[in-house]
Amino acid sequence: MAEAKLIDGKAFAAGLRERVGKGVAELKAAAGSTPGLATVLVGADPASQVYVRSKGKMAAELGMTRFEHRLPAETGEEELLALVRKLNADPAVNGILVQLPLPRQIDTSRVLLAVDPDKDVDGLHPINVGRLGSIAPGALLDFPVPCTPLGCSMLLADALGPLAGRHAVVIGRSNLVGRPVAQLLLRSSCTVTIGHSRTRDLPALCRLADILVVAIGKPGFVRGDWIKSGATVIDVGINRVPAAEGKTRLVGDVAFAEALPIAAQITPVPGGVGPMTVACLMYNTLQAARRKAGLPFVAV
Ligand code: NAP
Repeated sequence: MAEAKLIDGKAFAAGLRERVGKGVAELKAAAGSTPGLATVLVGADPASQVYVRSKGKMAAELGMTRFEHRLPAETGEEELLALVRKLNADPAVNGILVQLPLPRQIDTSRVLLAVDPDKDVDGLHPINVGRLGSIAPGALLDFPVPCTPLGCSMLLADALGPLAGRHAVVIGRSNLVGRPVAQLLLRSSCTVTIGHSRTRDLPALCRLADILVVAIGKPGFVRGDWIKSGATVIDVGINRVPAAEGKTRLVGDVAFAEALPIAAQITPVPGGVGPMTVACLMYNTLQAARRKAGLPFVAV
């Protein structure tokens, strides 16, 4: 059997970034405004530092203004909330990204609730969660949607065209990935089933999937014989595992080599969903700036 076609998230994300960059230039020309992205990092977690740096760098590359805020690990909740309120009130800031996880002394849900929903470019404010949860089939996504799920749905639409009627199985029910992915697929009129750690006979459920999205955080957990022949597989997992010579490498939640001869299309790890996340953050920031300028929604 032929090998699955690779869904090239790296190339798609590059194209999306280019379109966002054009959108930024057009917004400047049409409304004289420059999208502004504020990033807030509390503490010095090395992975979070890398993520925040790459987000700020990309925003600058696309012609946006970036505002970087770094607070010490011992920052209190009130101090962080005060900064969020200040950014809410700043007209130059269109998007606010509070890098998660936050240190223990801070209640994450209080902070997410404090972000102005119109500037919530991570799509995690309860108002935006509710908007996605109650969206009508096919309705415009003219509000902030969580970045990784948005990236998954863009890749699927590009790979398959209209998704209506397909059976999508999403493994994972986190607020960050699984749930919003399922809601986006429902909006696209898929028949959606969500699996999680308490699901009985996960392999049998996966075998029903025309579209299988896996977001659990366990390397190679979904085996090749769990996949229906000809399915499209979106592997959201990012897991670092030991490799030769004491090095490490990134792998997904799907046993990639086993899936390759069975699936019709599959995202590799790395180079699949990963690059879409930051590109979608830029997309959300541009859209927030366009809304603020009173321009109609257009998907770029
Ligand atoms: P999470 O919050 O830990 O959620 C994991 C989900 O997987 C939970 O719903 C859990 O079920 C389910 N699960 C765990 N073990 C399972 C099992 N044995 N069988 C079935 N379901 C199981 O993780 P997350 O934030 O959603 O992230 C998931 C993965 O995606 C991670 O590898 C993460 O690194 C990756 N990720 C990638 C990107 C990207 O940019 N590509 C972005 C975000 C996350 P219960 O709810 O029942 O516990």
